[in-house]
Amino acid sequence: MNINILGAGYVGLVTGACLAGHGHNIIWVDIDQKKVQMINNGKSIIYEPELNSLLKKNKRRIKATNYVDSAVKDSDITFICLGTPSKKDGGIDLSYIKKGSEEIGKNLKQKDWHIVIIKSTVLPGTTKDFVIPILEKKSGKKANVDFGVAVNPEFLREGKAVKDFLEPDRIVIGTNNKKTKNVLEKLYQSFNCPKIFTGLSEAEMIKYASNAFLATKISFINEIGNLCKKLGIDTYEVADGIGRDRRIGRAFLDSGVGWGGSCFPKDVKALIAKAKETGEKTRILEEVVKVNDLQPLKMIELLKKYIPNLKGKKIGVLGLAFKKDTDDIRESRSIPIIKRLIEEKAFVKAYDPKAIKNFKKLFPNIKYCNSNEVMKSDAILILTDWDEFRKLNYKGKIVVDGRHILEAKKGIYEGICW
Ligand code: NAD
Repeated sequence: MNINILGAGYVGLVTGACLAGHGHNIIWVDIDQKKVQMINNGKSIIYEPELNSLLKKNKRRIKATNYVDSAVKDSDITFICLGTPSKKDGGIDLSYIKKGSEEIGKNLKQKDWHIVIIKSTVLPGTTKDFVIPILEKKSGKKANVDFGVAVNPEFLREGKAVKDFLEPDRIVIGTNNKKTKNVLEKLYQSFNCPKIFTGLSEAEMIKYASNAFLATKISFINEIGNLCKKLGIDTYEVADGIGRDRRIGRAFLDSGVGWGGSCFPKDVKALIAKAKETGEKTRILEEVVKVNDLQPLKMIELLKKYIPNLKGKKIGVLGLAFKKDTDDIRESRSIPIIKRLIEEKAFVKAYDPKAIKNFKKLFPNIKYCNSNEVMKSDAILILTDWDEFRKLNYKGKIVVDGRHILEAKKGIYEGICW
């Protein structure tokens, strides 16, 4: 198939590269000229394992452009993979989706039949009440008669995005249109996993409920972990014990410094804001967010056991990305921790294998260095679970560990929840 992907970010780029690997022709549209140029040179602007080799391998089937019109004209399907960030009040900012839908809508005028698939995470009702009306208005055509619409949420994890896309637990497709359903069934026929067909809003809600549940699981184990710490209990042994229960499962029970990234924080907040709009209360989710907001500050509390006054002290930070194997720093737990260290007038020395460039945009004035230099600090905080942090020599160092890097126990060691 000829597939147009609007937005070549983490989701759009991975979706296109993986579908190119399945033999489809991909054209990305992005407003960022640098991204377009890099893709056309067969390279990824973001760091994601396996992505560069996939782009290189499928170079003849992929291209990128700044122009949406030719991309819609030359394709059968458009995936919308645009950002849906938070507004100040926690609600969802649909400005990218609005602009993208308008541009696609205009270009549907000249098309006989085309399918628009919303892969961005959007709140229940958005496709029906927001995207479709824009597409219809701008095209002068009717959804499900002149063009197809589907919601196909993405569940990939950054750092494992290519693998997750190619080997998903399930593929969710929300559509009310038989012709669209058939095309998507064909698109994904070589993916060996259950395909779940739903209505538009159900597909949208599946994505939010999944993320809200996973965030809840982490905040839950962090709350249990904080208690275990006080009681001198090893939280990870507890997690292994409860995780063996098939009703619970072991995944997302690693206690630590909390969840961040581009999805959980904004999606949980957007769901809470949506519930407020309807007059419904989301008591559990509000507490899930509160637990997560407080968790990073536990690192400072523990650090102060060893260095009560941080003023002028050299504090080494290992890890800036919100998790390992990504350069993404959105809502990384290192942000509130470094902010607090700066407030307390500590001298921050930071290292991350991939995320320094992105972090410098937020914190231009801390010292960025390699891991050896970080080790020459008065104390060290471990904030991301990069594998290479397991190989450092922690002997004699004060280490506060937020990510269960047990090799650091050779130092004067304090785990956040264990
Ligand atoms: P991103 O910010 O990395 O990518 C968005 C891209 O869209 C950028 O490259 C930007 O330049 C481009 N863009 C903005 N306006 C445009 C326009 N008018 N035309 C063309 N391109 C435009 O975002 P992302 O992390 O890929 O997330 C995209 C969506 O997928 C969001 O709704 C997110 O919640 C969801 N999602 C993200 C992940 C993840 O791990 N990142 C996982 C699942 C779902």
